[in-house]
Amino acid sequence: MKIYRYLDRGSIRESSTPPSDAVLLTPCVPSKIVCVGRNYAEHAKELGNEAPSEPIIFLKPPSALLAPFGTIVRPAISQRVDHEAELAIVIGKRARDVRAAQWRDYVLGFTCANDVTARDIQKKDVQFTRGKGFDTFAPLGPCIETELDPAALQVAARVNGDTRQNGNTRDMIFPCGFLVEFITSVMTLEPGDVILTGTPSGVGPLQAGDTVEVEIEGIGVLRNPVA
Ligand code: ZN
Repeated sequence: MKIYRYLDRGSIRESSTPPSDAVLLTPCVPSKIVCVGRNYAEHAKELGNEAPSEPIIFLKPPSALLAPFGTIVRPAISQRVDHEAELAIVIGKRARDVRAAQWRDYVLGFTCANDVTARDIQKKDVQFTRGKGFDTFAPLGPCIETELDPAALQVAARVNGDTRQNGNTRDMIFPCGFLVEFITSVMTLEPGDVILTGTPSGVGPLQAGDTVEVEIEGIGVLRNPVA
């Protein structure tokens, strides 16, 4: 089932079939956006990094969230803002010390995410917080798909209709169950929290006036203009 969150005459509603003129909201409101770096070997390589021996995790602030069709704003201090198409796991119930084999019991479903990154700033800083944390750098949506096996899904990014990323979740170094076990051994995840599972190769720059789309098989298309 697909769950959309949207505004309907000033009220927030959820439904699998929003009205055509509905203003979509992010499909959940996370207290934490947990991200996984370099989870696809080809992407680690394209940025000159080794494939990691255990997951690299970092946080994006919830203030970075952006709804479907919302505008990604390139900050003036960055010369290089990249798209990163990613499968996002949406947590369904409080999760702490979850075993990998039980991971699905704690997950509501999956959505599309764009881990927008100021690449020049990310490279300059030791921490990823600034380069990944600007307002509008976490587009999420358009819906949560609750009935989906994430083992082998196409993950694509298009800029102005041209395909830039076209990977498959089967190439993740650390699959979803491993990530849920690893992350919940560190921090408690709450309902609505999301895990961005890393991006396949093909990341590249966004310019003002572009439109970027993240499409994941079985979920849908997350579309955002860039200013
Ligand atoms: Zn990423």
